[in-house]
Amino acid sequence: MDNLNLDETIALLQELIRNKCVNPPGNEMVNIKSIEEFLNKKGISCKVFQSAKNRGNLIARIKGSENSPSMMFGPSHVDVVPIEKPNEWHVPPFSGEIKDGKVWGRGAFDMLFLVAAQCQAFAMLHSEKFKPKGDLILAIVADEEAGGTFGCKWMIDNHPAEMKVSYAVSEFGGFEISKNKLIIPYGEKGGIGLRLTFRGESGHASIPFGKDNPIEKVSEAVIRINKYKMPYTTKYIKPLVENSGANFIQRTLITSKLFLSLILKILCKNSKTEAALLHSLSRTTFATTIIRGGQKINVLPGTSSIDIDCRLLPEQDYNYAIKHIKKALGKKLAEEVEITIIEDSLENRGSESPLDNDFVEAMKHTFHKLVPNSTIVPLIAFGATDLRFIRRNGGNGYGFSLIDPKTPNSEITEMIHNKNERVSIKTIELTTRAMYELAKEFLG
Ligand SMILES: [Zn+2]
Repeated sequence: MDNLNLDETIALLQELIRNKCVNPPGNEMVNIKSIEEFLNKKGISCKVFQSAKNRGNLIARIKGSENSPSMMFGPSHVDVVPIEKPNEWHVPPFSGEIKDGKVWGRGAFDMLFLVAAQCQAFAMLHSEKFKPKGDLILAIVADEEAGGTFGCKWMIDNHPAEMKVSYAVSEFGGFEISKNKLIIPYGEKGGIGLRLTFRGESGHASIPFGKDNPIEKVSEAVIRINKYKMPYTTKYIKPLVENSGANFIQRTLITSKLFLSLILKILCKNSKTEAALLHSLSRTTFATTIIRGGQKINVLPGTSSIDIDCRLLPEQDYNYAIKHIKKALGKKLAEEVEITIIEDSLENRGSESPLDNDFVEAMKHTFHKLVPNSTIVPLIAFGATDLRFIRRNGGNGYGFSLIDPKTPNSEITEMIHNKNERVSIKTIELTTRAMYELAKEFLG
């Protein structure tokens, strides 16, 4: 494949950054138009679906010749998150400037480089008259950063046939967990917000004796929830550990339900980050993040409440979370508590795709071609992506790109939704090649 025009791919990325599709309000139509123009110039026709004023989504398709499984580049989003402190950036955040071999700007990494790479790979396949077995679809969407209401979710609700696909690839995969071990996200945890309210007896704080103070109940609830032993599973740890190069003893210990608690205790002393990762991968988690109660120092409050950020494993729903919150509270508090769901929808359920299919094999082969001796390490992600909608629509979805191994993972985690977002030109090149090769491998 040497018809890769890297300069053109970079120019497209710069244009997408400069178009400044900050969500809210999004205004993604500007980026959609840029992509439409890019594709049209190459003789590719596409469909644009307007979902709201100045907002829209784009689909291009190379029809498959047989009734074979289809593949999607995307759903890939062209909106970006706002800038908090522009003066902390080394370059103006919407400049798309090139500095130190990297393209800088809001959205460079999340996820405009992947959009540019997918558009370019799609155009290359089109120009060489690639005849895929199943359809190859390019799906560019709006509004991922605010929940997908006008983007992927809107497309699936309004144009489900356009979004019907067997396998989709989107943000983010292909970064090293250790030498030549490339992460592939194959699912994601879900999330709900719960509010626990306790009532008591209000009154003057100068005569507190015998008064039923809800702040005391909330305090006890926080401690009980924090200490609660949530049931756990090693199902989502297994694919990670088995492919990450751990030795036999480590593998056996970490993936055994019997030893996991002990391993976490030991890890917690010298490797807190890894312990926290394994902990979150093995169970639904509760984190108390907001506490309320009382307005005035001399008044006993009548109510007090806490908000709990709850992250669910793929097969669990809010009933599961509430059942365990009540167990954690114990009989007395459980009888008194009022639980309200403050954030929940079908869309933030967890989801996962299988790992034993031809598509996963094709991803392995593709990485192998570009990174000799590489293996993939499947991982459940903790945050939500548009792939959850694809899974709900009956498809499978994976995070797939190929990150320049010279980019430290710490650089990536620090800059996502933060200052000085940037992507190396090598990453743009590798990802474009990976997309192209993957389509050939799976649909060729
Ligand atoms: Zn993103």
